[in-house]
Amino acid sequence: MQKRDSQIVKTLLSEHDLREGVDRLSRQIAEQWGSRPMTIIGVLTGCVVFLADLIRRLDVPLRVHLVQASSYRAGTTRGDLTVAVDLRAEIQGQDVLLVDDIFDTGHTLVEVLAELKKYQPASIRTAVLLFKEGRQEVEFEPEFIAFRIPNQFVVGYGLDYRDDFRHLPYLAILEPEDLRDRPADESGADG
Ligand code: 5GP
Ligand code: MG
Repeated sequence: MQKRDSQIVKTLLSEHDLREGVDRLSRQIAEQWGSRPMTIIGVLTGCVVFLADLIRRLDVPLRVHLVQASSYRAGTTRGDLTVAVDLRAEIQGQDVLLVDDIFDTGHTLVEVLAELKKYQPASIRTAVLLFKEGRQEVEFEPEFIAFRIPNQFVVGYGLDYRDDFRHLPYLAILEPEDLRDRPADESGADG
């Protein structure tokens, strides 16, 4: 029999922790940003819950666009990255804030950044909810980080495992043995 969500996940950050972290981060962003309009580019799909909470706390004029970058295919191994953006008009000459759920190896954000830079923004900075310690394979670090977390696979608050768990209002650790327990879905998942 399949185990229920509450039995297989262990809370890492509660709803309260997340609210405090996003509050803190939005204050930090607002302080450094000034009054210039902000063009937010969110990386689907994992960013959606964080993005929704973040934009409601940012008291600056802002616009929101979304891009798709799928890096985890059929589970937890990084596969081919696809960045599909057609945002030249929105990005050119604008001050951009790139928003993603988690910075792991860093390859996803570095590749998305390179794509967005082709559209010649006036400036581009990056905000992530989570930064996984000790995993980075790139020189770059996001300017804004809400939480630094240990190297474990997390779900909830927008982050999925095989398209499941995104709806959890808290962030939880999925243990390796439970990763194997989940039903297989070879279609892959979007980050
Ligand atoms: P990177 O390119 O930095 O290695 O991977 C970034 C993407 O991988 C994230 O946007 C996210 O979609 C996915 N990812 C990395 N670590 C985790 C994790 O612990 N849990 C989940 N659900 N996704 C992760
Ligand atoms: Mg992602």
